[in-house]
Amino acid sequence: MASQASLVYQWPVGSDLAVCVHSSITDAEAVAEIRAGVNLWPTYCGIALHWTTDADQADVLIVPDHLPISAVSKELGLTDEPVPGQKRQLLMRINYDEDWTPAELFRVAFHEFGHALGLGHSPDGVRSGMSAYLDVTVDPGQPWEVGQGQLRYGPPLIVQAAAPSPTPTQGAGPSPTVPSATAIFTVSIPAPGDYRITVTGTATSVELTRV
Ligand SMILES: [Zn+2]
Repeated sequence: MASQASLVYQWPVGSDLAVCVHSSITDAEAVAEIRAGVNLWPTYCGIALHWTTDADQADVLIVPDHLPISAVSKELGLTDEPVPGQKRQLLMRINYDEDWTPAELFRVAFHEFGHALGLGHSPDGVRSGMSAYLDVTVDPGQPWEVGQGQLRYGPPLIVQAAAPSPTPTQGAGPSPTVPSATAIFTVSIPAPGDYRITVTGTATSVELTRV
């Protein structure tokens, strides 16, 4: 695990990082957990990433490694930090001497990729996916790491779909639990006349009427 950053380490703002899981990690479930942990970051801050199988082209190359494990401490991962303003390949090492559970691997991938984005460890006592010590009861995406990610890269570039509003059960007839609403507004259309658009209920019904 990387030491606490004293500078703001980060990739150039606007970077679209190519990320590669090295082909020596062959276990499909492990690859899926690693990807899932890494893929959370663009949902929390304004970094873009895409997956590649070309290790040479990767900005972040995820590799299995053998890291020190002692009775008192285990290095679960070790990741380079980006040089401010530069784009050069970083290695993100996952300790393959560790016997991972999927939940651990998912969290360690999230944590180590946080280092690859330039984040250090969260302060002692803060519940965070970037704590120096793995705690599988802490889900990634805690306020500390979201704030640190956005400090470097701004808000997410990906607009998350809003949580779906309650919709009537299909085929169950009219639902009394969803209030219908009618909004009437006038829009300009480059054609003679104005049109009235009436949106009713769950916006599945739109009427366009000339007025
Ligand atoms: Zn760490």
